[in-house]
Amino acid sequence: MLGSRAARATLVAFAFVVALLLAAPGGHPATAGQPAAAAQAEPFRLYLGGIARDGAHLSVSISNYSPYQGGALLVSAGDSTSGTASLFGRQYPLTPDGAGGLAGFVGVGTEDPPGPTSLMISVVRSDGAPETVVRTLTVLKTDWTVDYIDLPPGVGDLLDPAIIKAEQDRLNAIYAGVSARAWSGAWRDPLPGPVTAAMVSGYFGEQRSFNGGPVGGHHGGTDFGVPAGTPVYSTNSGVAVLAEGLDVRGNMVIVDHGGGVFSGYAHMQALAVAPGEAVVAGQVIGYAGTTGLSTGPHLHWEMSVAGVLVDGLRWLDGTQGF
Ligand SMILES: [Zn+2]
Repeated sequence: MLGSRAARATLVAFAFVVALLLAAPGGHPATAGQPAAAAQAEPFRLYLGGIARDGAHLSVSISNYSPYQGGALLVSAGDSTSGTASLFGRQYPLTPDGAGGLAGFVGVGTEDPPGPTSLMISVVRSDGAPETVVRTLTVLKTDWTVDYIDLPPGVGDLLDPAIIKAEQDRLNAIYAGVSARAWSGAWRDPLPGPVTAAMVSGYFGEQRSFNGGPVGGHHGGTDFGVPAGTPVYSTNSGVAVLAEGLDVRGNMVIVDHGGGVFSGYAHMQALAVAPGEAVVAGQVIGYAGTTGLSTGPHLHWEMSVAGVLVDGLRWLDGTQGF
């Protein structure tokens, strides 16, 4: 649709601005150079309540001992009533799994250092006793893709920084929430799928160099180039906690899946849910479009775990053990 080179350059420039604006705040994660290439031989253990006793009393299960930067893992603990997992000093809630135990996701930031690190799991057992176990994870390096972009003069001055910040602050506040678990089972494609690499127009975590400047930032989600009107699905069950038009992200829906996990869908043409509405996995929540700061139809899809943005594509391909 954009035939001329000049038009494409402009599109790229705008895409850069959008991506920059949607980049994870404060060194959060983002990205992803090879999302689908995340296949790892890391064995994961399925939690079968009561099996695999750990330490004195606590049975724990970790879906993925070698997550990539921008990756995630699922932690389960048996026979407990409350708890948290801690990684790189960040706390991740573990919430009741409906079977007497706890479960919760842990996100690895884009800037978290590769190499061995400790994952601490602290719970209150059903008999009232506190217990903590520590496991070693090995964070694998992600080779982020980089866009080198020549931005025409003035393009970066389109939006008032105060508007951008207000919108980001609002999302950050939403992503900091923790509600009861609503997610279950597998995480499904946000578009009629399965999604393919050919649909991806911008990877999570992608970095940018502006007019020859330093490489920096991380794209906070995955962009899919799809026709306007393409139905957008909730990746799991939850509650639509935001459904409205935003200045930068356009028509956006955020679904709270519980336990600190959220999914966001931006730049949609139309919304199909209302704030506060419960949704189920695979439900149509809107239709892809090009609202907000966007120059062509696409879906920007992001996943947040306790405020840490992670690569949604890795939630779809089974390589993280959940
Ligand atoms: Zn995007």
